[in-house]
Amino acid sequence: MKLARLKGKPEIFYTIQGEGKSLGKPSLFVRTSLCNLHCIWCDTDYTWNWEGTSFPHVYDRDPGYTKYKKSEWIEEIPVSDVLEIICGYECKNIVLTGGEPMLQQKELQELCRALKKTDSTYWIEMETNGTLLPEKDFDLYLDQYNVSPKLKNSNNPEKLRIRPEVLHYFSKNPRASFKFVIDSRADLQEVLDIVNTYRIKAPQVYLMPQGTAAGQLAEKRVWLVEICKQYGFNYTDRLHIHIWGSKRGV
Ligand code: SF4
Repeated sequence: MKLARLKGKPEIFYTIQGEGKSLGKPSLFVRTSLCNLHCIWCDTDYTWNWEGTSFPHVYDRDPGYTKYKKSEWIEEIPVSDVLEIICGYECKNIVLTGGEPMLQQKELQELCRALKKTDSTYWIEMETNGTLLPEKDFDLYLDQYNVSPKLKNSNNPEKLRIRPEVLHYFSKNPRASFKFVIDSRADLQEVLDIVNTYRIKAPQVYLMPQGTAAGQLAEKRVWLVEICKQYGFNYTDRLHIHIWGSKRGV
C-alpha cells in the first residue's frame, strides 16, 4: 500500500486526535498518500501536490515552496509490515487518514481485517473527504467515519467535491460525523445547504476553523463558536496546531 513518507519511513505515529468527534483521544495515525481532491489550503499537500501538476496552493506564495517529487514522498509498504508496526504500539484507537484513504480500500480492508482478527477491541476511524463510497466488505471493519465534505473555499470544482450518493450514504450512517472546514462567515450558507439537502442532524456536524497557525484559528474561533451555538452544531478546534504548530508526525 502507499503511505506518506516521513524521514524515510511510513508516516505512522502515536498522538492525540486533534480534530472532530474524538478530539483529545490518544490515537495511532496511519497516513495514506494520494488524494482525489486538491484543496488549496491542504496541510498534507505532500500526499498529492506533485511536480508537473497545475493545482494551486496557498503555499505557492511562500518563498522556496515547490511541488513534491512523487517518488520521494510515497512509501510503498506491504500490508503485513503496516500491521506489524501498528501492533508494536499499545494504542487500540487507529485513525486511517490521508490524503484520501478511501482510494486504497482494498489494502486497508486487508489491514483492518487482520487488525480485528488480532484484537477485536481495535477501534478504527476512517477520515474521508466524503467523495467515495466504502465497499460493503470494508465498511464491516470501520467503527467511525470522520467525513469532511469540502466547500467552495477548498477551490475544488463542485462536481468533484460534492458526490450526492456518497453524502446520502453517510448522512444515514450512525457511525458518521461531518466536519466542515470554515474559512469565513460566508461559508455558513453552504454548510446549511448541505445539512438540509442530505438531512444531516445538527449533533453530527462539527465546524472547524481553517488555519495552520494558532493565530488564524484564534481569530476565526470567536465568531465560529457563536454560529455553532446558534445552530446546535459542535465546534472543533485543531488541537495539534496549538500544541505542535504545523510539525509533521506528532
Ligand atoms: S481532501 Fe484532505 S487530503 Fe485531500 S486535498 Fe483536501 S484536505 Fe488535503
